[in-house]
Amino acid sequence: MPFSPLCQLNGGCMGCCGHDFESKEKIKQAVFKNNLEFKHADPKTEEQFIQFRDRRPSRDLRNGVCRNLVEEQGCYLCPLHPARHGKDLRIGHCDTDYLCKTATLFENWSEEKKKKFIAFVESKRLDNTDYSIRMDNDSLLKEFIELEKSLT
Ligand code: SF4
Repeated sequence: MPFSPLCQLNGGCMGCCGHDFESKEKIKQAVFKNNLEFKHADPKTEEQFIQFRDRRPSRDLRNGVCRNLVEEQGCYLCPLHPARHGKDLRIGHCDTDYLCKTATLFENWSEEKKKKFIAFVESKRLDNTDYSIRMDNDSLLKEFIELEKSLT
């Protein structure tokens, strides 16, 4: 299953938990409503998590955001993730094999370049929503590549 350390930077990235994001505010509104529904459902068993997941079809997004995405202690997270269950409850609901362009390229970079990119991201001091938007639209990648070029 693809995983990149970039998915957990800056309070967690939600860049691939949706499509066609409208705005930062709309993303935050969607996650706020998801959180309310998640707290109300208060799933404990695997079956209850699946019931929560299946309350709407996977393509029925909220402001472009997956209805399962929630925020806990300021970090974005997916309550269906195998980190919580051991089993991946996202399978069949979202594309668990997807990695964004930045994360895909990052995998093949040298350790030195990876460290540089992480330091570059940290220097931006983005919140998790801006970070996610900029991972999703490749703009951090483009800016990093330009910076690298200007230093050679
Ligand atoms: S957009 Fe990229 S970095 Fe963000 S969660 Fe998806 S794969 Fe990870």
